[in-house]
Amino acid sequence: MKRFRSQVPGSVGLVPTMGYLHEGHLELVRHARRGNLTVVVSIFVNPAQFGRGEDFTTYPRDPARDLELLEGERVAVVFMPGDGEMYPEGFTTWVDVEGITERLEGASRPGHFRGVATVVAKLFNIVEPHRAYFGQKDAQQLAVIKKMVSDLNMNLEVVAVPTVREPDGLAMSSRNTHLKGKERKAAVVLWRALCLAQELWEKGEGDAERLRREMTSLIESEPLAGVDYVSVADPESLVELGHVDGAALVSMAVRIGATRLIDNITLGE
Ligand code: AMP
Repeated sequence: MKRFRSQVPGSVGLVPTMGYLHEGHLELVRHARRGNLTVVVSIFVNPAQFGRGEDFTTYPRDPARDLELLEGERVAVVFMPGDGEMYPEGFTTWVDVEGITERLEGASRPGHFRGVATVVAKLFNIVEPHRAYFGQKDAQQLAVIKKMVSDLNMNLEVVAVPTVREPDGLAMSSRNTHLKGKERKAAVVLWRALCLAQELWEKGEGDAERLRREMTSLIESEPLAGVDYVSVADPESLVELGHVDGAALVSMAVRIGATRLIDNITLGE
């Protein structure tokens, strides 16, 4: 990858993924195509960002299908390193973004963002992109990467891409493939809760606790759903808001059966 990179003239756009690609990933690739001469997609299911008991081993994988999907997208290179290449024996250096990683996903998944920041920093060093593309679907991840790039003076632009959804509103996710039978329909409850927050806010509801309560009770009315967290927070610091005045990141993690899904929207952008 490094040898290839050293021979590429012009701008390079990187799309980091964990594979099992869907339209959301392809939208990132298309943004990268529009903004750069060369596009690199990485596919790496990063063991360092999965906690004990999380779904690292069962995370969906289908590299052959991924490559087929990328065929039509004019991608220069698909970088698919092995675990041992990324984390050889004796690997001991980690990137820890403090503060914002302790909330929301970070609170539910200790160590998750340390793994994310470290692997993304490595990918940036290997690929040396001018721009890197991340989905708003993982809003906290985006905030963490932006903070890392700013704090460590990394020489690239982080580009945010809006969430791509199924026709019924469910955010596309590789993990959706685990939804069985009635779970797929039940999963729309995340989107319904986000729409409810949007609607209440548009009608003038600014009390963040009220928004959290209304969303939580809507989600709990779905028998297959279990709330992990529901948040109305400042989009940059991710601190929970008392009142929504400017922009607010409304986000949630919900278990549908054994599958944990996350989604978000931003109010008042
Ligand atoms: P993943 O393979 O799930 O780690 O995701 C790789 C990248 O694709 C991340 O930047 C995600 O935020 C982004 N992504 C995943 N799902 C979507 C979606 N439905 N819409 C837009 N971007 C997405």
